[in-house]
Amino acid sequence: MKLILATGNQGKVREIKEYCDTFEVIPYTELIEPFEIVEDGNTFKQNAIIKAEAVYNALGREDVVVLADDSGISVDALGGEPGIYSARYAGEDASDKDNLFKLVEELKKRALKSSPAHYTAAMALVSKNGVQTVHGWMYGEVIDTPRGENGFGYDPIFIPEGFTKTLGELESDVKKELSHRAKALSLAKMFLRTIKL
Ligand code: IMP
Repeated sequence: MKLILATGNQGKVREIKEYCDTFEVIPYTELIEPFEIVEDGNTFKQNAIIKAEAVYNALGREDVVVLADDSGISVDALGGEPGIYSARYAGEDASDKDNLFKLVEELKKRALKSSPAHYTAAMALVSKNGVQTVHGWMYGEVIDTPRGENGFGYDPIFIPEGFTKTLGELESDVKKELSHRAKALSLAKMFLRTIKL
């Protein structure tokens, strides 16, 4: 079965390919020209559905399943920010590094060295059978000093519950075990097994 990813985010593509090695995983950008998708939902779930449906409709084929991941980090001390705005926290065209430094700046403004935080991943699966959604979460804390180069996005400032190292420092196998994306994908795989194209 061809599983088409409704994302061009290399960090997500790498992790989803790694966690889903029993399916043929293809980023949609390898099949059609990338196009802008306006993510104007109010929740991770709504944005995941918007992305998956946009790509499914643009592909116009019935022999595929499209999977979209909408994810982000919510920081308790910031009232849940950046949440669904994680990819554009420092502005519309912000890079992962810009967003990470904006979060560090917001902690420093409040004289905080750390805060409880969690990642959320909402996934939408769209096929000729309709739409399914699943979620996964990973709890821990964010700190005011980036450490390590592994992972992507906010990983250098995120320490998962039960660890002392950031996801930037931990081996990728650890993230594969406990990440929001891994948990959502294990549920998504159950749905995938029920789809016959
Ligand atoms: P989306 O592409 O609109 O879903 O935005 C997701 C954003 O959330 C990414 O650009 C990252 O900044 C952040 N994010 C989501 N998942 C992770 C993760 O596993 N590690 C680090 N940052 C993440």
